[in-house]
Amino acid sequence: MRLAVDESVDNEGTGVDPHIIIPTMGERVTDETRPAHHGPDGRFRIPWPLEIADQRSGGSIFRWQWERLTHKRAPNPRPEQVPVVPHAVAQPRAAEGEIRVTWVGHASFLIQAAGLNLLTDPHWSRRASPSQRIGPARFQEPGVPFDALPPIDAVLLSHDHYDHLDQGTVERLHARHGNALRWITPLAYRRWFAGVGVTSVTELDWWDEADVGGIRVVCAPAQHWTRRKLKEMNDRLWASYALLLPDGKRIYFGGDSGYFRGYQEIGSRLGPFDVSMIPIGAYDPRWFMAPAHMNPEEAVRAYRELGGRGAFVPMHWGTFRLTDEDPLEPPVRARVAWDAAHLRPADLHVLRHGETLVLGDG
Ligand code: ZN
Ligand code: ZN
Repeated sequence: MRLAVDESVDNEGTGVDPHIIIPTMGERVTDETRPAHHGPDGRFRIPWPLEIADQRSGGSIFRWQWERLTHKRAPNPRPEQVPVVPHAVAQPRAAEGEIRVTWVGHASFLIQAAGLNLLTDPHWSRRASPSQRIGPARFQEPGVPFDALPPIDAVLLSHDHYDHLDQGTVERLHARHGNALRWITPLAYRRWFAGVGVTSVTELDWWDEADVGGIRVVCAPAQHWTRRKLKEMNDRLWASYALLLPDGKRIYFGGDSGYFRGYQEIGSRLGPFDVSMIPIGAYDPRWFMAPAHMNPEEAVRAYRELGGRGAFVPMHWGTFRLTDEDPLEPPVRARVAWDAAHLRPADLHVLRHGETLVLGDG
């Protein structure tokens, strides 16, 4: 069976930001001597059939760009439509038994739990782009000013796209903490980090785990892809993460992902989760984005398949415009999907920039 192969797309010279170009998704695995998501050429690939048939072809990138030029799109939100609210970051650390999750924006969270302070996909720069002169600029300042951060113990990185791996922020964190700060990444990031002077990197394959100060950090699958330079394509792995705390509580960070059948397996192996951060934005046009980004309805489905309990914190919306949907639409659709699924209203937490979700004991 041939899947979603789009090798004829040549993105050079299109003037499109490389982090929004979707690549070849790979073919079904026939060689069982290596994990299914490890390709024979040393690159990584999605090893399962796509849920939504891939409708992209050789001219896709041009069709999308043509659509962007010829279709009217909703405007970018004004800053007051995506407000920063006062955060409740614990200084320096959360109380025993407490979990604090503060949304900095996009996929960046400060997680305070089990005596540790962790960041996910930290991004404090103005643009999600290889250049700070061009590319998607943030609608709103980070919800926690960089200088207001408590000491950080470790960072979880989901993948290398510019809206998740921001070199400027890596350098600021490194200047502040040096190699005392631990970076947990999927496979094949060590060299990139060494290039910016960071050597405290722990690479994990899917289902591998690391002990981070008593928290079991487990790397889990996601359906996505990677690239930073035009010549690169899936040279580095992408992932989601589960955090298994010493007191039995569990946290899931979804990274970037299209909808795939693996959520059930992640939930049964690593859940149930007390908090799940799941991406809900960057989904239109569907014919182009579906393999790599869930829409809000799929994100709610993922939450249910992960176990359907605990706090759902939507992410990956409202900070940078990467795709064509109205940037304010994702949480609206997430609420509708949530209610339609008869999930507990109190478990849906659409955080504003800077807002902190506090889960206490019990
Ligand atoms: Zn991505
Ligand atoms: Zn992203």
